[in-house]
Amino acid sequence: MAGLSCIDHGSGTITQAPLPYEPDALEPYISEKTVFVHYNKHHAGYVKKANQMIKGSDLDSLTLDEIIKKTYGNADQIGIFNNAAQVFNHTFYWNSMKPGGGGMPTGAIAEKIIADFGSYAAFKKEFAAAALSQFGSGWAWLVKDGDALKIMKTANADTPIAQGLTPLLTIDVWEHAYYLDYQNRRADYINAYLEKLVNWEFAEANLAG
Ligand code: FE
Repeated sequence: MAGLSCIDHGSGTITQAPLPYEPDALEPYISEKTVFVHYNKHHAGYVKKANQMIKGSDLDSLTLDEIIKKTYGNADQIGIFNNAAQVFNHTFYWNSMKPGGGGMPTGAIAEKIIADFGSYAAFKKEFAAAALSQFGSGWAWLVKDGDALKIMKTANADTPIAQGLTPLLTIDVWEHAYYLDYQNRRADYINAYLEKLVNWEFAEANLAG
């Protein structure tokens, strides 16, 4: 499926990072159709709306991170926060996966996971439980909080960077991320993510940060 480079986001200061792989690269675990719609409609939609909402305001000259942190918790700017945070969250999600990924990590990230969770199996169980138990739309994350790794989940657009935490990995558990491929079987999508897709090199780079 062609056309990933032909998206019209309109003009704006917030840009959409390119997909780090072809839209069919995650098959058979996440279909080309899901990636295409998710990237071109959902992710691109957040970029477009965020740019429309900040246009002409003092937020227009800030970086995406700065916009997210500045609007966090401000009831009058919840729409801007939601769209800007979703731009960040989705870029982070695409990079949290790679073709041929998944399974047990090696190296520094593996040592840190074993030190902080006891074992890879314990990490996997806690991450999957967080992703499965997020009620409605949201995200599950592996984050660094100070020196410690933690699992957390966030609702809707909420993002750990707004709370001063360093994300290492994320999984999108909004239904648009998996419904075409897995319908209501979120647990199967989470398992495929952990077993076949996780980009541990990305997590390790974020750990080294
Ligand atoms: Fe999404």
